[in-house]
Amino acid sequence: MLFATHLLVAAGIGWLSGRPRGVSGLRGTPAFPPALSTGWLVAGAALSDVVDKPLGALGVFDVYQSVGHSALLLPLAAAVVVKHRHGLALAVGWGSHLALDALHMTVNGRAGDALFLAWPVLTRSDPLAIPPGEFALFYAGSPSFFLEAALWLAAIVVALRSRFGVGAARKSGR
Ligand SMILES: [Zn+2]
Repeated sequence: MLFATHLLVAAGIGWLSGRPRGVSGLRGTPAFPPALSTGWLVAGAALSDVVDKPLGALGVFDVYQSVGHSALLLPLAAAVVVKHRHGLALAVGWGSHLALDALHMTVNGRAGDALFLAWPVLTRSDPLAIPPGEFALFYAGSPSFFLEAALWLAAIVVALRSRFGVGAARKSGR
């Protein structure tokens, strides 16, 4: 998935974690402070690409999804959850990045590429390995690209609803 969409989804998880439970959500009730820190969620979601894209660009590894995308780091993530106050948010953000990348490959008919999750134990025989800039051009118009577009559209609708009270909130008389 595109880098910005990873950050968007992480921010969305933060927003969802701060919503009141039950029917009162989006009805003009003040939002609770997020249960998971949005900043740490976004940092966790950024981490994989911030680490792996430079490693790929510098030729350290021949793929753009390596150490930061490996689910084998799960024990390390668990340790961070235990040790750090915002470790859970960081780990959830990181996990969402891995899940979305695997989802995008599956949606685009490259489910085998999701083997990146087991790097370096398992490696793909024919990795895509396209540099990030070129990748965006390659990616535009693919099924997963439209899935991302739908996510952005949903985020815009939610943002408009909460900012301008479009829809249900208007009935509350504000
Ligand atoms: Zn990624």
